[in-house]
Amino acid sequence: MSDLSKGAAWMRGEIIPIGEAGIAVTDWGVTHCDIGYDVVPVWRGAFFRLEDYMDRFVASVAALRMDLGMERAGMVAALGDMVAASGLRDAYVAMVAARGPNPVPGSRDPRDCKNHFYAWCVPYVHIVKPDLAEKGTSVWIAKSVRRIPADSVDPRVKNYHWGDFTSGLFEAKDRGFETTMLLDHAGNVTEGPGFNVFAVFENRLVTPENGVLHGITRRTVLDMAHERGLNVQARALPLEEFWTADEVFLSSSGGGVIPVARVDDRHFSNAAPGPVARMLRRDYFAWMERADLRSPIAYP
Ligand SMILES: *Cc1c(COP(=O)(O)O)cnc(C)c1O
Repeated sequence: MSDLSKGAAWMRGEIIPIGEAGIAVTDWGVTHCDIGYDVVPVWRGAFFRLEDYMDRFVASVAALRMDLGMERAGMVAALGDMVAASGLRDAYVAMVAARGPNPVPGSRDPRDCKNHFYAWCVPYVHIVKPDLAEKGTSVWIAKSVRRIPADSVDPRVKNYHWGDFTSGLFEAKDRGFETTMLLDHAGNVTEGPGFNVFAVFENRLVTPENGVLHGITRRTVLDMAHERGLNVQARALPLEEFWTADEVFLSSSGGGVIPVARVDDRHFSNAAPGPVARMLRRDYFAWMERADLRSPIAYP
């Protein structure tokens, strides 16, 4: 039995070590970035909100007009078998729908491609390291790029079109910032590489509604905020209004609620995590252990 503790992949019905997994160089997933995907967290031995992630993935596959030749139940079984075989108790689990190679010589008709499903898992990923998240992270607003417009590439279909984010990350890293956030062409806040953005104004949360992926963690934040009696508004968030926020935080399946201490040269909540972000971060880790939101994995 090969070692799967660094990660495993499910490819064509087989579970293999992550380092041995690959797809064809002619796959449109590679040549045209033609991929839809999703990432569900595994926490303490169970998937969190699995059905919500599956709903989003299945919707992405339909929007991309892919036929994976697999039912949802088969994909869920593949994910469960793969994580069980890896033995990972806390994991980042990706499911991928790739356009596939086009078997018809010279064809540029996407309908000819053989779409396929694969999956992989690695130890749980914190998009911002926990010690940094506890202190409040730093975010650079990209100046040279804007978020790809929603009518060019639909951000509600989780996708690999990261050209805009990667440019923003270079800007951020060159200046010593942890991560980046992008604006849209109207000057509204959108999102960053793998996370949604929230601004807190007293007991009110505002998060962008259009031009962003509707994160499952974003939804969990809205649910938790509701339970805490906070007001929530999902709507356009102009940059000028964003600057007047009391607190800022990020949401992602890779680490939950991530407080922000600094955006560009501006400090928020005294350059430390604000009280609302701290409360919601604690709530998130508690919610990940809620039995009604967990699908336990059948480890051998
Ligand atoms: C994955 C992702 C998010 C966060 O979504 P979650 O479901 O909460 O992990 C936000 N924006 C983008 C662009 C993403 O890829």
